[in-house]
Amino acid sequence: MIIDIHTHVFPDHMAAKVLDKLSRLSRSIAFTDGTLDGLRRSMDQAGIDRSIVLPVATNDHQVEKINDLSARSNEKIADVIYFGAMHPDFTNYVDELSRIARLGLKGIKIHPIYQETDIDAIKFLRILDRAAELGLIVIAHAGLDIGFPGVVRCSPMMIRRAVDRIGDFKFVAAHMGGWRNWDEVPTSLADTKIFIDTAFSTGRIVPRGDCHWNEKDLRMLDGDQFMKFVDAFGADRILFGTDSPWSAQSESKKFIEGLPLDDDDRSKILGGNAQKLLAQ
Ligand SMILES: [Zn+2]
Repeated sequence: MIIDIHTHVFPDHMAAKVLDKLSRLSRSIAFTDGTLDGLRRSMDQAGIDRSIVLPVATNDHQVEKINDLSARSNEKIADVIYFGAMHPDFTNYVDELSRIARLGLKGIKIHPIYQETDIDAIKFLRILDRAAELGLIVIAHAGLDIGFPGVVRCSPMMIRRAVDRIGDFKFVAAHMGGWRNWDEVPTSLADTKIFIDTAFSTGRIVPRGDCHWNEKDLRMLDGDQFMKFVDAFGADRILFGTDSPWSAQSESKKFIEGLPLDDDDRSKILGGNAQKLLAQ
């Protein structure tokens, strides 16, 4: 079972517009048309059995609407599983997180940069605490964001502080624990129990043709660097994710398949770990 723990889709009527905006901001190209159908075509082509869609609430008014939509989608389809959303400004987070659990959503996505709040600030800590109580998975954008140069609201050390406060819970630090904060990740986080996902962290960024890039900025983690994360965290705590549409699911999967891992570890990273986490 191959599971992509980190994908994005947008409602059909706005997908083209959102993708265009984000592609300009990130100066990189999208590999699907941003719709659910587009994601499913990509899964077919890449041989991916399940994708997890992570919606981000960019303001508190969107939270309930997104969660309703996610629950409705999950009733209709099985191969694409939507998570819920939460925003640090959503004041009734206690009840809404309970409702998320009751709706059968497995977890929430938070994005400290888009949501302009530090992961170790009280507004997030109280959400993490409640999510932990309910057994919800929390996937957080970690490290830098390609669209917001220099802004970090979820560094490896900030995650460390948050996890130390909350205790053991189902937390996934996306982008190998902190996008382009990779040097700090193993030292800050390897001795915790959190998971990291591989989304948009391996191989090379594919730039938009109309943007300037320095060659060295296109490089993300190579195989040797990736294996150091496996040594530090163990294969049990790494989840395959792609950030589709922002990388090609097929290429991201090929990267993992090409690593010098034993079969057991490879299948854990590509889906076994996620299957276990989602089943809990
Ligand atoms: Zn993402």
